[in-house]
Amino acid sequence: MNLPDFSRLCIHTITTKPWPIETAAAKFSAAGVKGITVWRDALTGRDIAPTGRLLRDHGLSIVSLCRGGFFPALTAEGRTKALDDNRRAIADAHALGAPLIVLVCGAVPGQSLVESRKQIVDGIAALLPECRAASVKLAIEPLHPMYAGDRSAVNTLAQANDMVEQLGSPFVGVALDVYHLWWDPALEAEIARCGQLNALFAYHVCDWRTPTLDLLNDRGLMGEGCIPLRQIRTWIEATGYRGFNEVEIFSTRLWATDQDEYLKQIVAAYRDHV
Ligand code: ZN
Repeated sequence: MNLPDFSRLCIHTITTKPWPIETAAAKFSAAGVKGITVWRDALTGRDIAPTGRLLRDHGLSIVSLCRGGFFPALTAEGRTKALDDNRRAIADAHALGAPLIVLVCGAVPGQSLVESRKQIVDGIAALLPECRAASVKLAIEPLHPMYAGDRSAVNTLAQANDMVEQLGSPFVGVALDVYHLWWDPALEAEIARCGQLNALFAYHVCDWRTPTLDLLNDRGLMGEGCIPLRQIRTWIEATGYRGFNEVEIFSTRLWATDQDEYLKQIVAAYRDHV
């Protein structure tokens, strides 16, 4: 019998949102979790470099910083402001010791998705000098089409792969989140293409509940929904992916529960379903 392997288990700070980052670090570490992805709100009021050291002192790999993006805007001033915020995110990731920033790319009501995608590519291209200087990569995260109105004009892995190809930089890849992409009939083929581009930078897991009660904050724990997690993991590992499996769950329901019990459930669900 194989012992459960938690060496690639990462949890996002937002998953256990009620815990301050210091508590999350201690609890994750004690539970055998090896990676942490840090949401920027978890750093509010902290000195960033010492917080990074604290996480590493707990034996945690800092997998990524969430998040940058939101590039499109109706005005040039708006787009410049977005770039400034992304430059701050790159500086924060560098100070924290995070090698990657996940991008929620953005979309603007009243502007076509085609124009927003163009602005996203232009925005990412403008950041590449800072990325190189800071050794921080960017991962385009395609979002489920239900968010196309105001959160992301990138809604399929094919679109993200197209952008990666167009930008042609080793600093730009993809964050594959099963919540956003599990339904896509082209998923297996586009995962293989992403692998060929050496662009699969991150893998996020959770589950899709039926019915979904809230478009943002009703994600399920792995095993609670209909996402074929083992199937998708087989596809990503076929590309050679050996990075972390990151548990990213926004759930008003689960945040209201005892977080120590919830962490045990996360670890068990990871063992049984991821
Ligand atoms: Zn994600």
